[in-house]
Amino acid sequence: MTSESKMRDKITYLAKSIYDRGLTFGSSGNISVRTEDGWLMTPSGSTMGNLDPAKISKLGNEGNHVSGDKPTKEAFLHVAMYEERMQTGAVVHLHSTHSVAVSCLAGIDESNVLPPITAYYVMKIGKLPLVPYFPPGDLDLAKAVREMASEHHAVLLANHGPVVAGKSLESAVYATEELEETAKLFLLLRNEKTRFLTPKQVAVLQDRFPS
Ligand SMILES: [Zn+2]
Repeated sequence: MTSESKMRDKITYLAKSIYDRGLTFGSSGNISVRTEDGWLMTPSGSTMGNLDPAKISKLGNEGNHVSGDKPTKEAFLHVAMYEERMQTGAVVHLHSTHSVAVSCLAGIDESNVLPPITAYYVMKIGKLPLVPYFPPGDLDLAKAVREMASEHHAVLLANHGPVVAGKSLESAVYATEELEETAKLFLLLRNEKTRFLTPKQVAVLQDRFPS
């Protein structure tokens, strides 16, 4: 089995796992992985719950469609991350409920949407800026993501959902899940007096576990 066909199986397995746990639904959400000669990407209109590994879209290094079904209409979100962050091996974008809920809140800190609730959130996401709202597919959305991507491996699209880059497919998926759980905790704690991690505690984590 070639490494590309193994990767197609891994994308299919993790996408189904995400779908089965209700982290995305319908035909929403998309995953991509960098390969030696371009990217593999979930196809347009596909459901993450039932991907066909053979039909996963293959794109060349210029973003051109090489084989498989047509790629997701949100491919530009992924390409922006890869082009601005050379170390990126995979990108995950979900419409996961709690992250989307937080992306709709008025009065949040747009430079860093979620507070440091847990150590694992700080280690896997760290800082999460909000990308202003644009209609899906709008070129200004691609431009806004691109502007933030060089400094941030995770961004939250306003009234839409998260885009998370990782060194590997697993790390991108786990970081997206950590973000979703932290968004849920944030909403649970919104009306409670809460001890967030202190700046000093955050600094220790950043020092011990640089991303
Ligand atoms: Zn989307």
